[in-house]
Amino acid sequence: MPTSNSNLTGRVHSIEPFGTVDGPGIRMVCFFQGCPLNCKFCHNPDVAWGKSQNQIKAEKILTAYNKNRHFYRTGGVTFSGGEPLFQGEFLLECVKLLKANGVHTAIDTSLSCGYRWIEKLMPYIDLWMISIKAVSPDLHRQLTNHDNGAILNHLTKLNANKADMRLRYVIIPRLTNTRQELTKLAYFIMNLPNSVPLELLAYHTMGVKKWQELSLPYQLNDYPQAEKSDLEHAESLLLECGLKSTILY
Ligand code: SF4
Repeated sequence: MPTSNSNLTGRVHSIEPFGTVDGPGIRMVCFFQGCPLNCKFCHNPDVAWGKSQNQIKAEKILTAYNKNRHFYRTGGVTFSGGEPLFQGEFLLECVKLLKANGVHTAIDTSLSCGYRWIEKLMPYIDLWMISIKAVSPDLHRQLTNHDNGAILNHLTKLNANKADMRLRYVIIPRLTNTRQELTKLAYFIMNLPNSVPLELLAYHTMGVKKWQELSLPYQLNDYPQAEKSDLEHAESLLLECGLKSTILY
């Protein structure tokens, strides 16, 4: 089996050996430490902004995969976080090694990085699961403290290159589920060069405890968790615009 002699290391918060919601089949999920965004609804603030210094080599990820390889027959490895693209060079090293060993690779990302990394990674990532935080620039800034112009451009270019992708969108009552915002989301997706599935996720507050443990102020206390009815309402508003979506609840 191909191996790697590289001494490059990456900061990996943790590895979940049997993930079932992070791509097709049973998957090993690698949570990369660090994220450039500051999402107010982040449920993994410890992974995004915590101080863990767990440095590992790509070879170690392959070794961990091989230990349970027989379980992953219809699955593979998913890189999540945090933002895996925040460590582009290390991620590239990992996916090159995994692909050389016949492993299916997926990434859970917001595409917040320079496009050069996306270009380099494209041949080695089988599935891109992309989280769109908001389409309106103001709402995106309000939710993440960052602009979304480059992110939406990256997504469009990746889609034009026929990358296999799924989009994910979190329904936060009174923030991301307004008719105006959902209409913008629908038209953005329908105007992409190639069709792409959209999954709707419910905003929940399970991560709040982690914010408290990190002594970070949680700013969405005034917003309720999304109920199934909120997702169904969003689904029907999107459908009015002509866009089908799938609810993950
Ligand atoms: S992109 Fe994901 S990991 Fe990063 S801050 Fe937002 S929700 Fe958290």
